[in-house]
Amino acid sequence: MTTRAVPFHCPYCGDEDLRPHGATHGTWECRACLRAFSLRFVGQLAPGTTADRIQGQQ
Ligand SMILES: [Zn+2]
Repeated sequence: MTTRAVPFHCPYCGDEDLRPHGATHGTWECRACLRAFSLRFVGQLAPGTTADRIQGQQ
């Protein structure tokens, strides 16, 4: 997994017409809903960690 992973669907409308946005790595724009967004690596999960346990810590 790298920070340059390519999204396949817009997180807002689900369309597949995504293109790089500007010169910043990890920023994309959706031509369907005209939104720009960024993808960012947040961190590595510990082995065995589930989403439920992460939410339970908050
Ligand atoms: Zn969209």
